[in-house]
Amino acid sequence: MNEGANEALQRQLQALNEKFAERLSEELAALEQYAEQLQSVREHEQRRQLMLALLERLHRLAGTAGTFGFTTLGEQSRLLERRAERWLEAAKPSGQALSALVRAVQQMAATGRAGGAGPHPELHSGTSDALPAGCRIYLLESDFEAGQNMCQTLGNFGYEVLLFPEISLLQSAVQGQLPDALIVSQHDGELAAVSALQQSLEVPLPLLVIGHRADFGSQLAAVRAGAKGFFVRPVDITQLENSLENILNLQLNEPYRVLIVDDDDDLSARYSLVLRNSQMLVRTLSDPSQLFEVMREFDPEMVLLDMNMPDFTGIELAQMIRLNDEWLRVPIIYLSAETDINRQMAALLKAGDDFITKPISDTALTAAVFSRVQRARALSMALSRDSLTGLLKHADIKEQVALEVERAQRSGKPTSVVMLDLDHFKQVNDQYGHAAGDNVIRSLANLMRQRLRRIDSIGRYGGEEFMAVLPDCPAEQAKRIFDEIRLRFAALSFHAGARTFSVSLSAGISETDGHASAGAMLELADQALYAAKHNGRNQVQIA
Ligand code: GH3
Ligand code: MG
Ligand code: MG
Repeated sequence: MNEGANEALQRQLQALNEKFAERLSEELAALEQYAEQLQSVREHEQRRQLMLALLERLHRLAGTAGTFGFTTLGEQSRLLERRAERWLEAAKPSGQALSALVRAVQQMAATGRAGGAGPHPELHSGTSDALPAGCRIYLLESDFEAGQNMCQTLGNFGYEVLLFPEISLLQSAVQGQLPDALIVSQHDGELAAVSALQQSLEVPLPLLVIGHRADFGSQLAAVRAGAKGFFVRPVDITQLENSLENILNLQLNEPYRVLIVDDDDDLSARYSLVLRNSQMLVRTLSDPSQLFEVMREFDPEMVLLDMNMPDFTGIELAQMIRLNDEWLRVPIIYLSAETDINRQMAALLKAGDDFITKPISDTALTAAVFSRVQRARALSMALSRDSLTGLLKHADIKEQVALEVERAQRSGKPTSVVMLDLDHFKQVNDQYGHAAGDNVIRSLANLMRQRLRRIDSIGRYGGEEFMAVLPDCPAEQAKRIFDEIRLRFAALSFHAGARTFSVSLSAGISETDGHASAGAMLELADQALYAAKHNGRNQVQIA
């Protein structure tokens, strides 16, 4: 290459670099925007979609930045890309890992924009790259063997558990990286130190306490340290895991859906703003004739109803809602200036569940709505879910399978249907009692919830039979997942009095082929299950 041509090439490269630098500020702004949205969105599927979009951007940036001379930025993007991937793959994605990732993205964008794409301490500290994307639990337990046991069992449920023999070590670990939850096994007065630790944090950690006795004093100390659960030794690990799952799910919960019907647009806009501020999803409706359409489409968990509107009364609307059984679980609360208790009672006798009297302060409105909608959701869940396992009931899982099989036929993406049955379960009941058997069923349900993705559905099909549908997942992959569940389940040890035992499971899997009906898919999975049983049990077979 001669001198002139080389110079021309250098000039062109320089021009391209400059052009990229311009594009870069847009790229960084987009990254910041995704990071911000990820922080405000609470619904899991929305988070996943945003994370996918963020991942794509990071991937592109990782590929291009280095090429255009922004080497450090390219490396940082690559690291963040990997963290985003791990978060997406985690069976139980960690809220703390998400916040840390969001912060790291924001920092990278800020440094990149300031022109200094130099190395950032957090990004290069190694520890943050080693951050697990799954739920991380810190366990304080001075009895090493007991602690090890618990780590292993909870590990089988898919948690990442770190064991600390004394409070000082726990304290420094918490300063380095916050866990998603804390379990404290109390031997002699650790709770005072744990209380102090909790108070030093911006937001106290979800805490479970294990103690010697369930007496008044111990439980008071636990509550004061911020405990969400209290267990007595020897710990029923299934119950502990259940409660762990509950408190972690509470943090990930979907926002509550509230419908406000009021002809005064200004007023409903104000209420809506206040409730949205408390992470609720709000729809407002000023024309009540649209009520049914909006209810069907928005599926509110609570309706706030104005009492007096031009063409209808709130009572009439409430009565109409109550004509439809599908909305039986939705509480109807009147928003009204009516303070006369007799007139309030007369309205409630016709329809509606309660009154909120106007004018109302923002905090009072939030508290009034929140407490009621929370309770409504808990009741509704209790009704649609199997009470022992919290999984979908027979009819609901069958419906879900039908839905997903139809969807797979349209999209052409392979979907797997799984039938699962515990091995020799009659013997378990006979030898260890029905209560111990129930415990086994509950553990398997929890284990499956841990290992499967949010988009998968699991149901209790019969007593000790389960059914699952895994969209966009070929049978080979489903087999790998269920083989892992099978191994982890077989490794759990259950207690009945002084005896311990373990249980195995068998499963059959079928994969959609573009035309088979849901019924045929179930039939195939059932045949594969039968083959697994016939072959000696404790295995997973593909149809
Ligand atoms: P196999 O390996 O062939 O499946 O043997 P099995 O003994 O498990 O046989 P089967 O699946 O037919 O037995 C189901 C048994 O599960 C019958 C019943 O005693 C027990 N079972 C069913 N529902 C429940 C339940 O809700 N709780 C408890 N504890 N046991 C249940
Ligand atoms: Mg069985
Ligand atoms: Mg059975």
